[in-house]
Amino acid sequence: MVERHAVVAGAGIGGLAAALALHRRGWRVTVLERAPEPREVGAGITLMANAVRGLDALGLGTAARRLGHDGAAGGLRTWDGRWLSQVDAEEMHRLLGTSALGVHRTALHRMLREALPAEALRTGCAVQDADPDTGVVHYLRDGAPAELRADLVVGADGLRSTLRTRLWPHIPPPAYGGSTAWRAAIPYGGPMLAAVSWGPGAEFGMVPLGGGQVYWYAAVSAPPGERAPDELAAARERFGDWHEPVPALLAATPPDAVLRNDLYHLATPLPSYARGRVALLGDAAHAMMPNLGQGGCQAIEDAVTLGAVAGPDADIPAALRAYDRARRSRSQAVARAAARMARFGQQLRNPAAIAVRDTMVRLTPGRMALRSMARYADWHPPRAT
Ligand SMILES: Cc1cc2nc3c(=O)[nH]c(=O)nc-3n(C[C@H](O)[C@H](O)[C@H](O)COP(=O)(O)OP(=O)(O)OC[C@H]3O[C@@H](n4cnc5c(N)ncnc54)[C@H](O)[C@@H]3O)c2cc1C
Repeated sequence: MVERHAVVAGAGIGGLAAALALHRRGWRVTVLERAPEPREVGAGITLMANAVRGLDALGLGTAARRLGHDGAAGGLRTWDGRWLSQVDAEEMHRLLGTSALGVHRTALHRMLREALPAEALRTGCAVQDADPDTGVVHYLRDGAPAELRADLVVGADGLRSTLRTRLWPHIPPPAYGGSTAWRAAIPYGGPMLAAVSWGPGAEFGMVPLGGGQVYWYAAVSAPPGERAPDELAAARERFGDWHEPVPALLAATPPDAVLRNDLYHLATPLPSYARGRVALLGDAAHAMMPNLGQGGCQAIEDAVTLGAVAGPDADIPAALRAYDRARRSRSQAVARAAARMARFGQQLRNPAAIAVRDTMVRLTPGRMALRSMARYADWHPPRAT
């Protein structure tokens, strides 16, 4: 049988997971990454049970659990430390059959990369266009034009996807979601929960990563593009009087560990994730607000589903239509829920609305709260066809 070739644009979590899913189905894969070096910025990431199941399907679940920290207890608090709801980690594990994981992004990225044949990844290659009929991919290699022919092309080129812009030109660019976020992964020896706290127009989250490391993020409503001369000082000013261990985490953070990103999402949903031989996945297909911790998890679901439909004998346009049917409504529903969660959670500022929200959350029976939290994490990889 002639070996089929898949070209993946973008070596983020989604692109590497897709390349691995296809590689495991017998495809030769080439991943074209624009950056000169393979890398993943962004401190830590929470992989909910759906993503952990996806990694299990890719044969990496055990390694991921070893890399990260799983089953942390936690919940939701107010900025001054009053609990609104608490998550029983064991109950959550029983409900979903596996636990969420906190993982350092660099370690996750390396694990995905190392599971691929070394020759699969080509850095310094910026994809410019792909022909959905012929599968020819045009790219610039260190600035010089080049092309590759593929049976299947995966657009995993992130929030500002070139392939989305080329093949779905009527879709407006990502919209600013109204908030900006600082984040860092740091060594921290104190007791640690996986918890989120809400204040007016602000949210602070902390996630143990294992190995004595903790990931924290701090989001606030702000105009786009606002920057501080010292980002850590700005975060301390905003969150320094929150409950412990928020000030302790900020105090333990070196200034050069802090990243700041404005939060953008694809506010206009795509009418399809597939065109001919090209499929989009991850942020290229459905960039969402981070408030459910699901953007990367959905990218892993996409990747696993793509591998499941793209068998060795599959008719590619038909397989990609099946991928679109399996993925679009679910991932777009998660994206809508993430935007709602941003408005209802971090972005709420009106004191009366906050009081009503907090009372609602506090009075929700534990089991119901658990089920609503587990809702989007309850996913099982499809059977390969
Ligand atoms: C503050 C914050 C917190 C988050 N927390 C979580 C969380 O806890 N859990 C979770 O699941 N998700 C979280 N997310 C979302 C998650 O980070 C993204 O959904 C995920 O990283 C998307 O992966 P991706 O591979 O689709 O895109 P990306 O990670 O953006 O990767 C795209 C890759 O494509 C490359 N590229 C771009 N253009 C080209 C081109 N033309 N040619 C070749 N290569 C190209 C880029 O260099 C990059 O390497 C968070 C996001 C933010 C902003």
